[in-house]
This record gives sequence, structure tokens and C-alpha cells, in this order.
Amino acid sequence: MMDFEPPLRLTLGGSALVSNWRALDKRSGAARAGAAVKADAYGLGAREVVARLRDAGCRDFFVAHWGEAEAIADLIPPEWIAVLNGISSADVPGARALGAIPVLNTVEQVELWRTSGGGRCHIMFDSGINRLGLGPEQLTAAAIHGVEVDLLLSHLASADADVAQNGAQLSSLQSVITTVNAKRRSFANSAGIMLGDDYHFDLTRPGLSLYGGIARSEMAAFIKPVVALSARLLQVRDVSAGSPIGYNATHICNADTRVGTISIGYADGYLRAFSGKGTARVGGHIVPVIGRVSMDLVTLDLTGIPDIGEGDWVELDYDLISASALTGLSQYELLTNLGSRFARVWR
Ligand SMILES: *Cc1c(COP(=O)(O)O)cnc(C)c1O
Repeated sequence: MMDFEPPLRLTLGGSALVSNWRALDKRSGAARAGAAVKADAYGLGAREVVARLRDAGCRDFFVAHWGEAEAIADLIPPEWIAVLNGISSADVPGARALGAIPVLNTVEQVELWRTSGGGRCHIMFDSGINRLGLGPEQLTAAAIHGVEVDLLLSHLASADADVAQNGAQLSSLQSVITTVNAKRRSFANSAGIMLGDDYHFDLTRPGLSLYGGIARSEMAAFIKPVVALSARLLQVRDVSAGSPIGYNATHICNADTRVGTISIGYADGYLRAFSGKGTARVGGHIVPVIGRVSMDLVTLDLTGIPDIGEGDWVELDYDLISASALTGLSQYELLTNLGSRFARVWR
């Protein structure tokens, strides 16, 4: 294999990541903060994230799939990993060999865990999101006998908003707490941490805000950006007024224009929602995306920008709050869409 330098780069702030985890851990009060590292740590790269948070003192890591647990299991004791999406009978031998801990979501999964040997597990209680977990009718002492419950978890549906559903879910969780003889309890995601001590229990599970997402507006005061996107200029051309740019000529230049084409596209997660809306930075100038974002290319209006040419790097504006407002994509989508062609460079 030859080593080609990718023409697009994600610059990742290792100290910002750790600072965000510490800030969330502190705001979790008496509870510890864990880390949701599913979906390749929201697109950043799970192995790099896990190693850094482990060194910072994080001891609980949440993934969705068993394959995601396997991909990080050599970095930490496997029992520090919880697999949120549960377990099937086909998963059991691998799960036991790996040693990561299943989050059991149904009565059937508890039964499967018990009959295949029992032991340490986590239980998800559905307190009202109606998505995954045992509901109030299913979570009985009989249903969970014979397994050793480490964490009793539940997940908030609307912690990013001040709505009655938060309190209703809290009451629902409190009403089953004595039913389950769990070592620890966990309720809050990033946004839930800001709802106050009642929501913290023993362990919080931030994801988005570790990676720079502002899950609630008050978090902007202490959460630092972690991700920056840059791409190389592949070509610069001067076109005359009236020239069409890109697929379907969605942009017509209203004056003579210098057009720069950079090496990033929707296949990299820079979605078509940025067409004609996104902006980028070159040498201290802000330049607009013109025309449609295509699979591997984006066109910029570089008119009036001196001393820029083929091979130069351009930074895309990717502040999660503004990019979300601009495109209608959620901060979660903006992160998890980031593709595999980036060089991921940790600073
Ligand atoms: C993804 C996830 C989290 C993390 O949520 P954020 O909103 O990203 O902080 C926590 N708990 C569960 C069960 C999840 O699925």
C-alpha cells in the first residue's frame, strides 16, 4: 500500500474533548460521567476518543452494537463497555467471550442472559420514551431474578427542552428503583446533566456534548468545539458574469467570479443542505459555498481573495449550532455523518 495524504482533514481537539468530559463530570455532581462512544464516537473515531477519556479517568463507555464493543475492547477492561442495543441468542457466545456487558432491553433478553449463565448485566427501563427497554409493567422483581444487575438505566426523551415529560420520566424511574437491586443507576444524557441533581443518580452518559455539541443553550458557556473540517483546493478558475456553477446550474454568477473547487462533498458528510448556504475560511476571509454540493466536490466564490491557489487548505465553517440552524440538520447528524475519507488528525 502506498501512503497518499487525504485531501481533506478533520482536526480533532484532544484537550477540548477531555475538557468537555471533565466539565460534564463536574456538573454531574456526586455522579460520575461516562461516555457514549457509539457510532464511532459520533464520527470522530472511537479508539482515539476512548483512549483519551480512559486516560482522563472515564470508566463507563456506551456503544450500540457488539461489533463496536469489540473494536475498543483491547483499550479498556471489557466490563467497562455497555452495549445499549441489547443481545440476541446469536450474540451470546461472542458476548461472553468478549466480556462487555449487555444492556438488557426486554424480558426475553433477561431470560436469555439468565439461561445462558447469568452474571453481570445492565437493565434498561423505558420511563416514557417508548423506544427501547422494559416498561413499567415488564420490570418486575420476577422478570429480573437470577441476574446480577450492575446498572439500572433509563433514557430521557426531551432533556434538551423544559417540558413536563422530564419530570414524568423521573417519577417513572423513581417508582421502579426499589424493584431492581442494582448496584448503580443512570439516567442523564448530555442535556439531562443540566436538569439538576435529581437527574444524576450514580452515573451520567453524555455523548453529544463531549464532542462539542451544545445540547442545551446554557452549555455554550463551558463546552468547547472539538471538530474542524478542512479540504484542499483542487482548482481555481475565473469565469465571466452569467456563468453557471455546478449541477443543474443552481448558481449563476452575477459578476465575473473566481471559483475555487475543494475536495469535500456529500459523500464525506458535507451534505447538500449546505448548497448555496455554507461558508469557508481562507487566509482570514470568509467565502461562500456557491452552487450545489456534489459527491466529492464543493465550489466556493473566491473573488477578491489574493494569493490562493491549487493545493491550499480551506477550512469549512462547521460550528455545530450555526450549521444546524443553517441546514436543518441536527448537531448529531452533523457529527455522525462525517465520513471515512478524512484524515483524522488529533491535536
Ligand atoms: C446516545 C445515548 C446517550 C448519549 O446521548 P447524548 O444526547 O448524545 O448525550 C445516552 N444514553 C443512551 C441510552 C443513548 O442511546
